[in-house]
Amino acid sequence: MSSNNIETYEIIPQETPYVIRNCSKCKRNTEFYCSEKFRVNANQKTVDIWLIYSCIHCEGTWNYPILSRINVNKIDSVLHQKFMNNDKETIWFYAFQINKLRKHCHQVNTNIRYEIRKESLDQKSKQVTIKICCKYDFGLRIDKLLAEIFNISRSKVIKLAQEGMLLLHPDINLKNKLIDDLQITVMSGW
Ligand SMILES: [Zn+2]
Repeated sequence: MSSNNIETYEIIPQETPYVIRNCSKCKRNTEFYCSEKFRVNANQKTVDIWLIYSCIHCEGTWNYPILSRINVNKIDSVLHQKFMNNDKETIWFYAFQINKLRKHCHQVNTNIRYEIRKESLDQKSKQVTIKICCKYDFGLRIDKLLAEIFNISRSKVIKLAQEGMLLLHPDINLKNKLIDDLQITVMSGW
């Protein structure tokens, strides 16, 4: 029998990041939320696809360019159908392309609500390995997440790591942003 339990935590965002940019109706920088709808424009053989964002204060919208003037034959037909059907997974994929969004906006607000879903085996053992699944990247820091999972302060998390009580695989800095499939071995005795 293994002496190492594995607990899996899945990080599930409850919303997509907001973007901050100029609203032509409000005449100032405001927050825009993702409407979860694509706009598809076909002009003969070329297609443009945008993801529509809406100002939180008014009816103003901003179209986030996804594909510009692409030959219709070059778009995968399954993907094309997903654009036409406002497929949620496809929308979220683009709504979490934060570096790309930043090029179009004043700022991207990644401070979004998320849920931590835990699956574990309730055996008692000397140490536990935590596996974190995070399908969408929104810049969540590892130390912030661990503080939340263990219900301790961020400085305590850093102290435990310094004392070798928390081992990260791969061995990255706690202040880095979370990566998918990160594993953390938690030694017993704290
Ligand atoms: Zn507005």
